[in-house]
Amino acid sequence: MAFEGLAEKLSAAFKRLKSKGKLNEADVKEAMREVRLALLEADVNYKVAKDFTNRVSERAVGAEVMESLTPAQMVIKIVNEELTALMGGSDAKIASPSSPPTILMLCGLQGSGKTTHAGKLAVMLKKKGHRPLLVACDIYRPAAIKQLQVVGEKAGVPVFEMGTEKPVEICKAAIRHAKDYGNDMVLIDTAGRLQIDEVLMNELKDIKSTISPHEILLVVDSMTGQEAVNVAKTFDDMLDITGVILTKLDGDTRGGAALSVRAVTGKPIKFIGTGEKLQDLEVFHPDRMASRILG
Ligand code: GDP
Repeated sequence: MAFEGLAEKLSAAFKRLKSKGKLNEADVKEAMREVRLALLEADVNYKVAKDFTNRVSERAVGAEVMESLTPAQMVIKIVNEELTALMGGSDAKIASPSSPPTILMLCGLQGSGKTTHAGKLAVMLKKKGHRPLLVACDIYRPAAIKQLQVVGEKAGVPVFEMGTEKPVEICKAAIRHAKDYGNDMVLIDTAGRLQIDEVLMNELKDIKSTISPHEILLVVDSMTGQEAVNVAKTFDDMLDITGVILTKLDGDTRGGAALSVRAVTGKPIKFIGTGEKLQDLEVFHPDRMASRILG
């Protein structure tokens, strides 16, 4: 299960804290040292972990906490609140422009789960009464268009493709098509690469400047830990993304990406992928994730 190691270590640290009864500053500092180590082992970015425990210590060492009847509980409550804030506080919404269609551009490295998540989003939006259109813009891998078509068929959502035409042209034509056919959500599956490269970034920038998407959602694989955060930072610097879809949280990911993405990029995680099936997509709730990590 995801976050298992982190949850266990935090729980052990808090158990020791609870066993002490009344707390002093040194007790809190010691507990925070353990929390910091647990976060680092979960592959949380070093600065994020350090700032986090400093913030909790600052709040916890106040008289109100130390002199309360259950100081350890108060510290845990602060950790919960700060974890929630770290992941963005409240749920992040999808943009809703005044005149449809809403244009969502999905980008990310190859294998991150981009195509699968384009399909998952389409299913979720369809359930909410929208009429999504999937757009195949990964023109470099011959199998990519076919893969999106298979996903579209399973999802019961139309797929717009123009073979290996230029991605910018495909996007423009797809938006015209959506307007003509009453599709209120256009989901663009862009090309991925194994690594970030300039040609890919220029193509994505080109698409962005031509069609001005309302959402640029970056799909990142949570299993890659700190690397996922580095990828998010680079994409954000280049494209000014609007949010992240964090995938493969059903695996035994240690949690670092979920906890660091927001702090490092300033952009919220909007959705999480929790399996290979098209219904395995959830809106990301920072408070629920914090409670899950704290057990
Ligand atoms: P793309 O290259 O970024 O378009 O990635 P794909 O959508 O082809 O996904 C790559 C692999 O990851 C596929 O085998 C998917 O089934 C798998 N995958 C995608 N999302 C998830 C997820 O949330 N959980 C799990 N366990 N597997 C996923």
